[in-house]
Parts: sequence; C-alpha cells; structure tokens
Amino acid sequence: MTSGRSAASFMRAVRVSEFGGPAVLKLQSDIPVPKPSENQVLIRIHACGVNPVETYIRSGSYPRKPSLPWTPGNDVAGVVEQVGQCVTKFKKGDRVFTSGTITGGYAEYTLASDDTVYLLPDNLSYKEGSAIGTPYFTAYRALLHKARAKAAETVMVHGASGGVGIATCQIARAYGLKVLGTAGTQEGLSLVRENGAHKTFNHRETGYVDKIKDYTVGRGVNVIIEMLSNVNLSNDLQLLSNGGRVIIVGCRGPIEINPRDTMAKETSIIGVALTNATKEDRLETAAAFYAGMEAGWLKPVVGSEYPLEEAAQAHTEIIEGPGAVGKMILTM
Ligand code: NAP
Repeated sequence: MTSGRSAASFMRAVRVSEFGGPAVLKLQSDIPVPKPSENQVLIRIHACGVNPVETYIRSGSYPRKPSLPWTPGNDVAGVVEQVGQCVTKFKKGDRVFTSGTITGGYAEYTLASDDTVYLLPDNLSYKEGSAIGTPYFTAYRALLHKARAKAAETVMVHGASGGVGIATCQIARAYGLKVLGTAGTQEGLSLVRENGAHKTFNHRETGYVDKIKDYTVGRGVNVIIEMLSNVNLSNDLQLLSNGGRVIIVGCRGPIEINPRDTMAKETSIIGVALTNATKEDRLETAAAFYAGMEAGWLKPVVGSEYPLEEAAQAHTEIIEGPGAVGKMILTM
C-alpha cells in the first residue's frame, strides 16, 4: 500500500551530464519527482551531506562511474513523502536520514531503499541528520570492523576535523579509547578536542610527527584512522605500536613506503570501503548509533552550509577550502 501522493510533480535537482570540474553540477528545476516502488521510500529532503568522493566521481577520475545524467548525494535527512507497497517500517510524515540513495540527494526529493533509511530522533535537526550517513558509518567500519579497536587502546585520527574525523573521535571516545586527533587550523583543533580527542596535533606544523612520538613516549599508537594516506602512510608506519593497524580511509594518490617498516612491529595496513558494508553490518552499526544518540555522545557537527544552487561552490571548497570544521552540507 502506498501512503499518500507526492506533493509535487517536478523538483529542483542537481545533475551531472558530463564528467568534469565543479561547473558540470547543473541545477535543473524540471526533473520529475520519482515514484517509490516495492521497498523504496520517497523522501522530501531538507539537507544533504557533501562527501569528497562525490567530487572524485563528478570529475570522472573515480574507478566506479555512474551512468549519466547523475545526481550526487547519499546522505539526506528529511520527511517521508510516500512509500512503496512493501515498506512497513516507515510512513508518510516520518523524520528520517539515509546512508544511501537511489536517485541522489542533491535534490528536493530522493528515492532510497528502506534498508538504508533510519528514523531521525527528535533531538537531532535535519541538518545534523544529513551529517550522519557516510561519515559515521565509515568511522564505525574503520574503527570497529576493520581496526577491531578495543577500550584502553590509543587511536590517532589523522584528519579529525572533517566529517569522518569528528565521527571517529566521538565513537572512539565513547568506546573507551585514548583519542589523539589532528587538524590543520586552530578552529579545527578546538572542534576535535570538543568532540572527544584527549590531545590534538596540527598536521600542517613541521615536526608534528615527532611531537606525537614524544607524546606516546616512543610506544606509538595502536590504531591510526588515516584520511590522507597518500601524504601520511610512511609516517604512520613510524607511529604505530607493536601490532598496530593503520586503516586507509582516504587516499588521493600514490605514496612510496618501505614495507620493512611493518616487519619488526608486525603492523598492518588495512583498507576500508563503506560500499562493502552488508545489510547486517548496517543493522549493527545503526543499533550502536541509536544507543549513541540516546546517550548523547553521537552529536553530528555541521560545518559549512550551502544552498542547493551552490553545489558547485561546495565541491570547490571541500577540496580546496582553508580547513574543515565538521561536516559540509547542502540545504534545500
Ligand atoms: P572532509 O570532511 O573534507 O575532511 C577532510 C579531513 O582531512 C579534514 O579533517 C582535514 O583537516 C584532513 N586533512 C587535510 N590535510 C591533511 C593531512 N595532511 N593529514 C591528515 N589529514 C588531513 O572529508 P571526510 O568526509 O572526513 O573524508 C575524509 C577522507 O576519507 C576523504 O578522502 C574521503 O574521500 C574518504 N572517505 C573514504 C571512505 C571509504 O569508504 N574509504 C568513506 C568516506 C570518506 P584540515 O581541513 O583541518 O586540514
């Protein structure tokens, strides 16, 4: 049974019709509002998170290419407008957020599969809801599923001021780890401290790697969650403890390392891809997040906000901007 009809027949949506620079993100106002079938949910979007991967895909440099025209955006928050005939978990009017969409989130409406839709608690705004999806699910996968981090271990979040970094700091702190975080601006460093880091370091400062070594009294850190491995991986191998793990979350190119650096301490380099998360992984992760939202430790930090029509500006800023201060979002 579908519940209700969509309010509008046409919507504004950003569309990419050819790969290229930010200017290929074109706002169109004559896109038909999609209709949900079977397990699909139609959501009227209030806000949508902007993720760096959407810039790589838009540029055409990413290995996985969508068919064109393509509307970016996985992480929306909004209100259920209509549901497909097999959907029982949601109804028209529910406040929700997503960890994936079918038709794209840089738009006024999107379709999502019901297993990637979650009720948004009343104590979180739509903007905060749009900052949960990719960043928090990636942070949890990196820290708990891949690094298998345990309470009392030390984690260094290398690039802690952005979407994934803040999420990782909050989760790691809640799970009992000692948390070190890096950022490149004073504002970013303060934000990282306010969101769970016991100690922060500036990754733009010469000699910061030695400061981290000194801070850990030569023992090193058990886990590194790495946002820019093409710059940092070689140093990371120096910073790990015996049996340490570096988790590759972000990478924008190649880097030379000496594999010997992994031998004496028997350390591991482990990649993470959120796209590999199974339905069971998502169920477990969401359960942990509801506990976090109830307890209050899961509190997304919204940074720069852009209206939908400035999506191209947002794509320029997320790569070239002066420094992250939480999650970048678009508002509708
Ligand atoms: P974001 O919000 O744009 O944040 C980028 C972060 O990288 C900021 O904390 C930034 O710090 C930091 N950074 C900049 N220069 C750095 C350096 N030299 N060393 C360490 N960190 C540095 O991006 P995000 O959403 O958190 O995503 C982070 C990365 O993970 C991106 O490359 C993204 O594509 C990737 N990612 C991968 C997966 C996956 O499944 N593997 C999923 C989600 C994201 P300042 O701005 O303070 O300098």
